[in-house]
Order: sequence, then C-alpha cells, then structure tokens
Amino acid sequence: MSSPGTVPQTTPGTTPGTTAEAKDLIRLRRIAELRSQVATWRRAGESIAIVPTMGALHDGHLELVRRARVDCERVITTIFVNPMQFNRPDDLSSYPRDEAGDTAKLAENRVDALFAPAAEEIYPKGYQTRVSVPLLSDCLCGAARPGHMEGVATVVAKLLLQSLPDAAYFGEKDYQQFLVVQRMARDLDIPVRMEAVPTVREADGLALSSRNLLLTPAQRDQATAMYRVLTELAARLKDGRTPAPPALAWGRAALGEAGFDPVDYLELRDADTLQPLERAERPARLFAAAWLGQVRLIDNLAVVDG
Ligand code: AMP
Repeated sequence: MSSPGTVPQTTPGTTPGTTAEAKDLIRLRRIAELRSQVATWRRAGESIAIVPTMGALHDGHLELVRRARVDCERVITTIFVNPMQFNRPDDLSSYPRDEAGDTAKLAENRVDALFAPAAEEIYPKGYQTRVSVPLLSDCLCGAARPGHMEGVATVVAKLLLQSLPDAAYFGEKDYQQFLVVQRMARDLDIPVRMEAVPTVREADGLALSSRNLLLTPAQRDQATAMYRVLTELAARLKDGRTPAPPALAWGRAALGEAGFDPVDYLELRDADTLQPLERAERPARLFAAAWLGQVRLIDNLAVVDG
C-alpha cells in the first residue's frame, strides 16, 4: 500500500518497461535472509507486497507484480514449486523450471527481491504442520486433487508469516485457491491484505497458463472453446432466473464437441462460499476444468459480480 506522497521505487538507471540488470534483484534463499531484508525495509518505513508463484513466469504472473508495484513500495516475488501441493510425483518432477528466465522477467518488472528457497528450507526434517480450510477446499479442484488445497494453504501461510507483508497478490485464474488462502489468512489472524487480480488472457480469451505451452497447435485452437463456453453460459445465466443445470449440460457437451475429454467439472457456484447454485441469483461464478490430451486446463468467470 503506497501512502499518499510516497514515490514509487525505481531502480537507478532504469525506467519502467526497459530491461533492468538482473543484478538489481536481491536473491534470497534462506528464511533468515528474507526476514532481515524485510526488517531493513520496515525500518525505512516502506510498505511491502508479496507475490507467491511457482515460477515459469508469464504475463499473468507479471500482472500480479505490476499491481503489487502500484500498491506497495517494495515487491517480493517468491518462486517455490511446493511439493506439498502435488499429489503425483511425476507432476512435481515435470513442473517447468526456468529460474534464469524468471529472474530476467522479475528484474524487468522492477521486483525488489526474489525469494526462492530450497524444499528443505520450507519443510526441514521433522516438518509436520498442515493448514486445512476444509469447506472451501473439498470441491472443484480440491475434489480431484486430494491434499492440493491443504498444500497451497500451508505454504502460503508459511510465506506470509516469513515475510509479514502489507499485501499479498493472487490471480483470479485460480479463484478457489484465492478463496482458500483468503479464508486461511482471516482465520489465522495474519495481518495482510489479500488481493485478487483479474485473469490475464490471450487475445482469443484463453487464460494464460504455463500449461498452455504443452498444447499441440491443434489443441491450442481447441482450447479457446473453454472461454467461449464460459462466456456464453454467463450470458445465458446472468438474469438470475435461468436454471443452471440444462445450461451446464449444454456447456459440457459443447466442451466435449470441441475436443475436451474428460470434462472434470463445469459448475455454477456461489462466488464467496463455493456452494453449488441452481441459478445465478446472488454473486455467482462459473468454474471449468477439462483435459485436452495430457493437459488439464482450468478457468472461471463471474456471472453476477459480488
Ligand atoms: P502459479 O505459479 O501457477 O502457482 O501461479 C502464481 C499466481 O499467479 C497465482 O496466484 C495464480 O492465480 C496467478 N496466475 C496464474 N495465471 C494467471 C493469469 N492468467 N492471470 C492472472 N493471474 C494468474
């Protein structure tokens, strides 16, 4: 949060949008280093934002950074491929990693510090504690991936307590994940503003995701159906009276015809509690997850805003 009259921090010799030297980025590997850097900024009265990621950064991640930059004087991005949130070892080992590329992107976007700890730093020998947010976690992506949301809530709780920022930034792309970590921070009285940033999309509507790179050209074309179906459904349901089940059945069939197989879910849910809805009669959101070959894509869209 920038207080009135504060000047946004700029890196000497660079202007926004130009290539900054990666040496301007402070690289932190240990929790103690992170705490000491945060303490230095706090002593200078500066506000601090954190942007948690798993790396392989694209413009969706960088949009979170840009929002954080506007609100706070110091921005920390974390890159940690969190083993606790993966339920398949092959998924964890094949997760894309590109620290050199990520570092350059973060420097260009004037991030102050990158916190990229090793797994043993976050989960040392003997580690046991898990943070669970059951009602928001057990549906949608949480149902298909047991332990996934618990892993996310646990690592975000740890990162918030390690850095004690003013604000933390998350993408609406993972809307359920945002609700889970927002609830976690409230329930644990962690004094941080949890901010959700709208999904960044390609020109044809496809939500940016590191998984998009795994699509063949033909699958990349098919992938646009997900946003098209969500947009069409939102238009049909936004009057708040149209029953959702037949519309959702149409949507599932449309995704299938476009080549998605299987469709894990396509649902209308309350935008705050994630309870299933028969109609979009209060703040409501559509949620979709479906496969193109080996690639699972997710997306969501507001029908009636909160
Ligand atoms: P990940 O590295 O996939 O864990 O994502 C880190 C953060 O970036 C999460 O808060 C995501 O919701 C967010 N994010 C990922 N893709 C997008 C996107 N297309 N638009 C906005 N935020 C995104």
